[in-house]
Amino acid sequence: MNMKKPLVDEHGRVHDYLRVSIIEKCNLRCRYCMPEDPEWTPKEDLCTTDELLELVDTFISLGVKKVRLTGGEPLVRHDVDIILKTLAERGVELAMTTNGILVDQYIALFEKCGLNRINVSLDTLKPNRFEMMTRRTGFEKVRANINKLLEREFELKVNAVIMRGVNDDELTDFVEWTRDIPLTVRFIEFMPFDGNRWDDNSMVPMAEIKDKIADKFMILRGKDGPNDTTKHYRVPGYKGQFGIISSMSEHFCGSCNRIRLLANGSMKNCLFSNDEVSLLQPLRQGEDLEPIIRDTILEKKPSHAGRFRIAEEKNRSMVTIGG
Ligand code: SF4
Repeated sequence: MNMKKPLVDEHGRVHDYLRVSIIEKCNLRCRYCMPEDPEWTPKEDLCTTDELLELVDTFISLGVKKVRLTGGEPLVRHDVDIILKTLAERGVELAMTTNGILVDQYIALFEKCGLNRINVSLDTLKPNRFEMMTRRTGFEKVRANINKLLEREFELKVNAVIMRGVNDDELTDFVEWTRDIPLTVRFIEFMPFDGNRWDDNSMVPMAEIKDKIADKFMILRGKDGPNDTTKHYRVPGYKGQFGIISSMSEHFCGSCNRIRLLANGSMKNCLFSNDEVSLLQPLRQGEDLEPIIRDTILEKKPSHAGRFRIAEEKNRSMVTIGG
């Protein structure tokens, strides 16, 4: 595959990280992600497996080096194994974000495909609260699968969306979890998406998260990667670390290298942009996708519009974007 010039936007950001929502459906019903009454895309407007792989290949030919599979819940897609095995031959870094429920059925395949970076979403360490937040059971399964991934030395991150009055009382419990385990726990600021009833008071900003943790622990600033969304910290002597993803209170758009491909074949140049460009229709009509993709990247704004504007604008539900 001959490489073309990279995907650079008007602000000099190189886009080499593709997040692919391979399915809109999920086996959980997390309140900040899945609306009461979700709008699903009709089947005929969703990518077939071949179309999805062809779109991903197009992005790889334009310089994408990392592909993260998301959903909904990627492991509920019936042929996720075919997608994994195919992408494993493409020489890109593979990663996945999952709710962890079905992970035990795929660990061997992850290892075979060289998929070593797994983010598991777990917003509470309390079984009852898990059921309240996800409207489903499965807490013990997720915990057991996290232990399995740790035993097999996957690079594991646990993502927890922090909401005021829901789970913000568990911040120090999560940090305590990193005492003897080489785990990264990441606290994500609650973000506005269609149907998740976001309001500014329900969001706990990074500064407050840090203060709540510093009330109990001495914390040191850790190291962040070049395009990192996370600000890392650690408690001296603890094997693991924690991080905060502050897209609402202190955004990190300046170093954004992310593109999103949705299950309906649409491209989003920003998580919060409500402009989407269909790549599926032109693909089905045999058109050249490169100019469409490049134009969409060139239209990318320097940063998101700010949480209040975002909350007012129509976007999508989180479950159909995949974060
Ligand atoms: S909000 Fe948009 S521009 Fe900012 S980091 Fe996220 S995807 Fe990138």
